[in-house]
Amino acid sequence: MAKILDGKAVSQRVKDDLKKETEKFVKDNGFAPGLAVVIVGNDPASRVYVNSKKRACEEIGYYSEEHALCESTTEDELLNLVEKLNNDDKIHGILVQLPLPKHINEETIINAINPKKDVDAFHPVNVGKIMIGNFDFLPCTPAGVMELIKESGISLEGKNCVVIGRSNIVGKPQAMLLLHKNATVTICHSKTKNLKEIAQTADVLVVAVGRAQMITGDYIKEGAVVIDVGMNRLENKKLVGDVDFESASKKASYITPVPGGVGPMTIAMLMKNTLTAAKKALENK
Ligand code: NDP
Repeated sequence: MAKILDGKAVSQRVKDDLKKETEKFVKDNGFAPGLAVVIVGNDPASRVYVNSKKRACEEIGYYSEEHALCESTTEDELLNLVEKLNNDDKIHGILVQLPLPKHINEETIINAINPKKDVDAFHPVNVGKIMIGNFDFLPCTPAGVMELIKESGISLEGKNCVVIGRSNIVGKPQAMLLLHKNATVTICHSKTKNLKEIAQTADVLVVAVGRAQMITGDYIKEGAVVIDVGMNRLENKKLVGDVDFESASKKASYITPVPGGVGPMTIAMLMKNTLTAAKKALENK
């Protein structure tokens, strides 16, 4: 039976460390790291994420601002707000909660955020830096996954890692971070042939497909580390991952639960990026 990679506990450790570091930062510099969270519309899942981010800021001791805009906000209005936040010295990190309403082009908004304040690491400048391996911020979810893999104690060098999913926010940057750790990385997607056979070669399997409980135990090599990024709400409202926990945990050596795995790590990494952004702002003063 697999050991659980407890994202709640690891993320709490990360936040506790950040809290201590932030106390010192505030004492030394006379201001707190500041995060602005922008939410447009009434998506209930986005509201839950934004509330968690605000709570984490309070817990660690950051200054935080929430900008809740109505669904009918225009792209220009949102661009104006981003520009204002780009020029606000109290704000070191800007997070625009995705998805945005259909009439707003997400790429346009992401590109408007000052890369130095882009704590999600979605701006093309930061994406490019991640590719090269010389980065300031890591994208929060893949960075959280790396922390959980570290927790399993497995060394990634020379290991076969399979990432299922190739989105810009999870799959692609995840593959890059594993590659930077000298793993041999395979990326799978909806057009991949023999997905199961490829998954079965993985010493570390990261699943980010957005399909409830798709990856069952028969996809998993005995003793593999299995990281489930997925978050899917079943009809009975239960939150489940992309991995079928029950069957997968019989094969894996380590596995992340949903909830309580990657989700809390994502927020902890956002907090880490915010402190990094504040430190960088000091260097550039
Ligand atoms: P996307 O929908 O953007 O990407 C899904 C990827 O999975 C695509 O690359 C797609 O392939 C691939 N895929 C879909 N179906 C299959 C299939 N049958 N076989 C193989 N590959 C398939 O999702 P995200 O990357 O944004 O998110 C993935 C999951 O992670 C979701 O459940 C999401 O809710 C969750 N998530 C969780 C976070 C957290 O903090 N825990 C943060 C972000 C996301 P193709 O490119 O060919 O279409």
